[in-house]
Amino acid sequence: MLNNQGRPTVAEKTDSPVGSIETFTGNRGLQIEEPLLFEVGSLDNCGVDLAEMPKHKNRLGVMARDSDIGLAGLSEPETMRHYVRLSQKNYSIDTGFYPLGSCTMKHNPRLNEKMARLPGFGNIHPLQPQKTVQGAFELMGDLSHWLMRLTGTNAVALSPKAGAHGELCGMMAIKAAHKAAGSKRNIVLVPDSAHGTNPATAALIGYKVRSIPASDDGSVSVESVLEVLDDDVAALMLTNPNTGGVFEKDIKKIADAIHKAGAYFYCDGANLNALMGRARPGDFGIDAMHINLHKTFSTPHGGGGPGAGPVVFSDALAPYAPLPYLRRDGDSWHMVETREGIEDDSHVPFGRMVAFHGQMGMFVRALTYMMSHGSDGLRQACTDAVLNANYLRASLQDIMSLPFGERKCMHEVLFDDSFLKGTDVTTLDFAKAIIDEGFHPMTIYFPLVVQGAMLMEPTETESREALDQFIGTVRNLVSRAKAGDVDYFKNAPVLAPRRRMDETKAARKPVLRWSEGMEG
Ligand SMILES: *Cc1c(COP(=O)(O)O)cnc(C)c1O
Repeated sequence: MLNNQGRPTVAEKTDSPVGSIETFTGNRGLQIEEPLLFEVGSLDNCGVDLAEMPKHKNRLGVMARDSDIGLAGLSEPETMRHYVRLSQKNYSIDTGFYPLGSCTMKHNPRLNEKMARLPGFGNIHPLQPQKTVQGAFELMGDLSHWLMRLTGTNAVALSPKAGAHGELCGMMAIKAAHKAAGSKRNIVLVPDSAHGTNPATAALIGYKVRSIPASDDGSVSVESVLEVLDDDVAALMLTNPNTGGVFEKDIKKIADAIHKAGAYFYCDGANLNALMGRARPGDFGIDAMHINLHKTFSTPHGGGGPGAGPVVFSDALAPYAPLPYLRRDGDSWHMVETREGIEDDSHVPFGRMVAFHGQMGMFVRALTYMMSHGSDGLRQACTDAVLNANYLRASLQDIMSLPFGERKCMHEVLFDDSFLKGTDVTTLDFAKAIIDEGFHPMTIYFPLVVQGAMLMEPTETESREALDQFIGTVRNLVSRAKAGDVDYFKNAPVLAPRRRMDETKAARKPVLRWSEGMEG
């Protein structure tokens, strides 16, 4: 089969979906088969007419290019179609239910977008004189205020650009505090159930990671912390609510034990959406915690926009918080950008995380979300997120399996694969079959402490009807698996633009560069 450029279509090389008719183009109705950019455009073409370059001596010396760079030549309409078609293959929170656990894919209100595009916020530049961006500073000041109010803390660094980046920021402050005290502590405690970014962060800044096994109920106990706690421990990194979707009930006692031993408590607060307006992490003893604006405060993530991971600090760690930071001088705001600019010698920042001040566009969106909800609305959003997760749990627990018993969960519900025992269907097969039903699958095989984990987070923005449709789908698939229809699962997905990938081969032998005539 050839496309209109006379090249074979990619569809030809993949299995044809069930019930398909052969089309000349390889397209399936309005689902257009999309080759790679390089397969569409000819390397010899150029999308624009450029005037002949005036002849002059090449001044690049050894840097001069001596071969083609291999960019596909396309016209503007060809380029548009390529990217718009690809975007239409994207599954997103705007197209359907997206119950990815731990990642909180919640609706991005359009009011946030409208505010972020106001010229006074959208068109400013980080190098503008400070007196011309006082409104932006005021907004950052307001956002800081509400982040501190919601967490019960007195200091915040807005600049980190993701949750993982926030972890790095918090841990660097902890390291600076130990260094200032002349301590050589080199161990960071991380529970088995932690998000992979926790041990990665600790290792990146030179700490050794000592793991804490989870208790039988999936949480971390004071005893298990005490068992591994000694004078070499610099910090504990603990997620709350944890990755099993449960509030760590001993958290205050654990924080006290950590402090008593001279260490700091880093809390992974990525999922503050389960606590917002109900519990303040400052009250349970955190020293540093990142807040993912792209999870709790509805700013877009993934392909939709950059993340932002502000970090709040306890009074003990606040002096080490990074540059830059905002200071209010009478009626105006001042951004302290260098160590020389610090008037108060009690502040000894460990350095800075980013070139400028962080993701301004996300600050506008997050504050818009806060202000449009109000404190009662934020509490309601948190409550509804927990209610929706428990609705999924209660509607599925009779046919699926809960690793830690039928207790209430917080913003997400964790199942394991024991309900699939004896069916030959795996967690992966089950997730692939969900794709054929038009849903993004839940998080699978995370957290690692649970066999064949399936972690679902519906978020507060889903209606009861949407949840019921998903529940109906999952119940139907469970019956199908238990009835022995293994092939149905092993073949899935059959209705997606692409079938199952060879994930092992993709990981072991990644092909990162296109070349003419390569195998698809
Ligand atoms: C999402 C998440 C992170 C990492 O946040 P990013 O913004 O993706 O870097 C860390 N820990 C937990 C528990 C998370 O859910």
